[in-house]
This record gives sequence, C-alpha cells and structure tokens, in this order.
Amino acid sequence: MENEVIDLRSDTLTLPTPEMRSVMNDAVLGDDVYNEDPTVNKLEEKVAAMFGMEAALFCPTGTMTNQLAIKVHTKPGDEVICDQLSHVYLYEGGGIAMNAFSSVRPLAGDYGKLSAALVKDAINNPNDIHQPVTKLVVLENTTNKGGGSIYNFDEIKKIKKICTDHGLILHLDGARLFNALTETSETPKEYGEVFDSISICLSKGLGCPVGSVLIGSLEFIKQARRARKAMGGGWRQAGGLAAAGIYALDHHVSLLKNDHLRAKKVGNLLLAYTEIIRLYPVETNIVIGELPEDREAVSFVAGMKEKNILCSPFGKNLVRFVTHLDFTDSHLDILESRLKLYNTGRTS
Ligand SMILES: *Cc1c(COP(=O)(O)O)cnc(C)c1O
Repeated sequence: MENEVIDLRSDTLTLPTPEMRSVMNDAVLGDDVYNEDPTVNKLEEKVAAMFGMEAALFCPTGTMTNQLAIKVHTKPGDEVICDQLSHVYLYEGGGIAMNAFSSVRPLAGDYGKLSAALVKDAINNPNDIHQPVTKLVVLENTTNKGGGSIYNFDEIKKIKKICTDHGLILHLDGARLFNALTETSETPKEYGEVFDSISICLSKGLGCPVGSVLIGSLEFIKQARRARKAMGGGWRQAGGLAAAGIYALDHHVSLLKNDHLRAKKVGNLLLAYTEIIRLYPVETNIVIGELPEDREAVSFVAGMKEKNILCSPFGKNLVRFVTHLDFTDSHLDILESRLKLYNTGRTS
C-alpha cells in the first residue's frame, strides 16, 4: 500500500480488465483492409447505429479520427474554427496544417467551449478573396484543457443553426463524449442528428487499450477510409481491439459516473490539503487546479511524485488530475491519507 503509485496523469493509462482481455482473446478476426474483420465490422455497425448515423470507421487513435475528419471536410487553404484550448489545435502535432493544409481560427471560449455568437463573428466573408474560406467548426465535448467541461446542448444546437445558415460543416471531438452524456439527458442519437461527423475515444474513460471511432455519412466514411489508408492507418486483424471496444461500450459506460464522483472528491482533497488555491469547475473526470502565481506546476508535480502521486503539469501554474477505471475507492483512501501528510509548501 505504502509504495502503491496513485496515477492520475490521464485516463489513457488504464489496463484492460481480465474480462476485456478474454473477449479480445476470443475475437473472430479477418483482414480489415479487405473489410473482412467481422469484429471490426461489428463495432463499426454498433457505433453507427448507436448514434443513428450511416457509417463508422475504427481507428487506432483519436488524433487520427479527428485529423481524418478535418482532412475530408476541408480543402487546402480552407479555415477551421475551433477553441484555442482544443485538442485538434493544441495536441495533434500541428496535424491540421500537416494533413489538411488548412488554416485555423482558434477562439477564446469558455473553458474550451465555443458559443454560437463567437462562431458567428469568426466566419469570414466568402466573397472577400483576401480571407480563407471558413469551412468547418470543431467542438470538443467534454473539453480536456477546459477541465472536463460539458457543453450545454442548446448552445450546440445554436451553433448548428449558424453552421447551417452559413454552409459550414460541424465536427465533434467527442473523445470524452460519454462522460458528458453521463451527466446530461441527451442521447448519442441527438448528437448524431446535429453533427456531420463525430469522433469518440474508447481508450480514455472506457478503458480500452487502443481505439477511436469516427462516425458520419456513408460517403464521408468512404473518403475517411481512403484517407486513413494513405496515412498508413489501414490495419489488418484489428478485431481483438474492436472486441475490447464492444465490451467497453456494453460494460464501462455506466461506470463513468463513479469516475466523476471520485474526481469531485479528489478536487476537494486538493483544495483542503495542498497549495492549490482554485479548481476549474469539476463537471466530469478531470480536475484542473490552479497554484499560486509563484508556485510552478512542474515543481508541484515533482513534490507529488515523491509521495507516489502522479499528476500532470497543465500550464505554468496549472496541474491536472484525471480519474479513470483503474482508480478505485481504495486508491482514493490512500490519496487522502497521503495528501493529509503533504506539505510541499514547507521546507523541512
Ligand atoms: C485524448 C484526446 C484525443 C485523442 O487522443 P489520442 O491520444 O490520439 O487517441 C482527442 N481529443 C481529446 C479532447 C482528447 O482528450
């Protein structure tokens, strides 16, 4: 217990459960580039049906599903509107420029969330040849850099209206969409009605070792499948990973609420026992804490590590803790007892 590492750096760190490993092992396989992996096909059909959309494409990462969507939806020189904190802009290695040759308009939203008003004001005049052609709006729900913040669905519908009025395409980076759905009354189908394409991650809170799914129209997925091949992402007997995805969708979505409860408790412990002075609102499984101006995140993280607590620096004086499937109530107890003894502010 004493040496047990409490790892809250990310929800990608989970290991497959014995049950998940067992379905992975038993999966029926085939060559997915030939569309002949029955388990991959089953996952893609399941996810498309869940969102009420025509088709889906199973990919190794959420970066790939987002990048494929941006590439298929735009042509070089077009402009993509997103929040300045968004994953597609900050954390995909400049992929929008590298893969789609698109221009980006990052906007200052609210905890990573755009509003209809912000989007509307950022649309370029299509008749002015100086300006890039605004083509695509990307939303992220929940927001990673915004601390797991959830969109109000009415605002999403307003953004959709702006997009429809201006002929813009709407993509959702739903890496943690199921976290949002856990806390709200919307269904995946309602999201499928509003967005032209959606990316979901199986490898975050749902606990799969690998995998994201891109969802959209038949024609869009056909083009994304072609673009994926060109990126080197055409994979072969991927059914074991797809089996993990099917298992996670059937068994792990309902567990996300536990991650959210634990995140709230983690937040309260951090406020009570550490130098963290303020938290971003804890709405789902991400806790972002703000340190005093003169306290650097990297040194806070190093101090935590000495207590066998792992978290991530998330800005100069911001730190991130993420709860996940492998962080249980007994880990929460260990965390509490360690934080009670924690006083990195003091020199001893
Ligand atoms: C994790 C994440 C992704 C995808 O990341 P990969 O590591 O490429 O799977 C996309 N968007 C958000 C908001 C994420 O947190």
